[in-house]
Amino acid sequence: MVSQLNDESVRLHETHEIPPPDPDFEPLKVNLFERMAQGGAQLIPLFPYDHPGAIVPCAAALIGGPGKAYGHFFHWNEADEVTVSYGARGSVIGAGTIMANQNLHGVNSFLHDETDPDAFTVLTITQHQGEEGEQNEAMIARCKKCKAEIVRHEYGATPYGLEGYDAERHGAADARVRQFATILGSAEFAEIRNTEAGRTCAACGHVNDLFPTEPWGWERVVTQTTAVNAARLAMLEAAQGEKKQEMVS
Ligand SMILES: [Zn+2]
Repeated sequence: MVSQLNDESVRLHETHEIPPPDPDFEPLKVNLFERMAQGGAQLIPLFPYDHPGAIVPCAAALIGGPGKAYGHFFHWNEADEVTVSYGARGSVIGAGTIMANQNLHGVNSFLHDETDPDAFTVLTITQHQGEEGEQNEAMIARCKKCKAEIVRHEYGATPYGLEGYDAERHGAADARVRQFATILGSAEFAEIRNTEAGRTCAACGHVNDLFPTEPWGWERVVTQTTAVNAARLAMLEAAQGEKKQEMVS
């Protein structure tokens, strides 16, 4: 009996050994429920890793309420995405559901009734960063009346470290926190979509309702990312000034 157990453990050891973590990417742990109790936007990356080949889980909490509306759009992503529901009520995506998203997929709140204050969906959307070449995405809006495409906003999402990475757009080497490509692209999409031209269907002339930006919170994340990077640089400058003062005195 003892020898059998030993055989088993030897076999497990041989077949299931996980290589030690990359010293540049310390293993981190996040509790999704804790994080999304305070997360103020949709599609928040849970970990600070978005390098080539990284698995990037992002969280969303879509909640109903009086007068609530999330609108609808399509997301096209060259990177593969998987959606996992971490609990839902009154949602198309039931608790525990796992879905492999198609590269082009429709996005809304997934709630049967967005005005129901008891309805919610807590999700992760996880994308697998490419390891080479360029990575692209698009946000697309269609006319509510005739379904013709009214906005297509395409943007580069090549990960940091690959040739196609856009440092001007997502953060140069001194940016401690990079703009998350999908949130930045989504914020831009919402702005374009809510212009007179973006709302008006070229095919049928219908003027579509404004896209509700508040429940998604993208612009806030973009602004805060810019601000925290500036804050860090201001802090470094202040520390430099302090050093110079010391040298003078
Ligand atoms: Zn139309």
